[in-house]
Amino acid sequence: MSKQVDTKALADFLKPRLNARFKTWLKICANCALCADTCHFYLAHERNPEMIPAYKVRFISEILKGKAEINEAYLRKMYETLYYECNMCRRCALFCPFGIDIGIMVALQRAMLHNVADIRPAGLLSAIESYKQFGNQMSLTSEDWVDTLEWTLEELEDYYQNLEIPIDKKDADILYTVNAREPKFYPQDLQEAAIIFNAVGESWTVPSVEGWDDTNLAMFCGDLGTSKMLVEKTFRQAEQLNTKKVAITE
Ligand code: SF4
Ligand code: SF4
Repeated sequence: MSKQVDTKALADFLKPRLNARFKTWLKICANCALCADTCHFYLAHERNPEMIPAYKVRFISEILKGKAEINEAYLRKMYETLYYECNMCRRCALFCPFGIDIGIMVALQRAMLHNVADIRPAGLLSAIESYKQFGNQMSLTSEDWVDTLEWTLEELEDYYQNLEIPIDKKDADILYTVNAREPKFYPQDLQEAAIIFNAVGESWTVPSVEGWDDTNLAMFCGDLGTSKMLVEKTFRQAEQLNTKKVAITE
């Protein structure tokens, strides 16, 4: 946990991002707890009041009102609440009479923790480093990726005739992208996609270079720079190959 963080630094991050919608939500929440029963964390923790959705955004008000003493315990509590008591499913927003979207506000608080306090789960940080270096979360090189596509196809040769995984084919209808865990751990998923696309005669292709991993774990901790970079990589491939659509498996 970083100890170089003060309330002002956190407030300075929040203030320009608190648009009218966020401000209104914070103001109109009636603390009615109607959102409580919609949250699986609340139900799974014997209706612990700390798990009520509206309570998970208290850090915003505490920081803005200067009520929070930013010490290690406070940062740890914030981290645990934001990552282990909410998965930003946004179900509670559907049941709140005002439509207050707690999931979005949890995302804002996660972004504050990541960008100001340098705190997020180690797994997310490692995925972000991999995205930056390799363009995918599994640290696969383009050679690894293309090689996997080729051998998965070879394995099917005895069972399917004329099966193809078109790589960098121009003017296809669909640019097909995958979760990087598929070539790493579940190459059978690539085979199944190829079988289906070929069976229905789909016009499709996969890019040989960065842009093929459609996961965006950077988004989960508010690293919007990395998040944007990933989306751009995919759309750059779609543009270069002149595909009509991008299909994602996530
Ligand atoms: S978020 Fe909505 S449902 Fe939940 S306590 Fe506030 S007003 Fe009530
Ligand atoms: S968004 Fe968070 S608080 Fe709301 S229901 Fe989902 S997990 Fe619970």
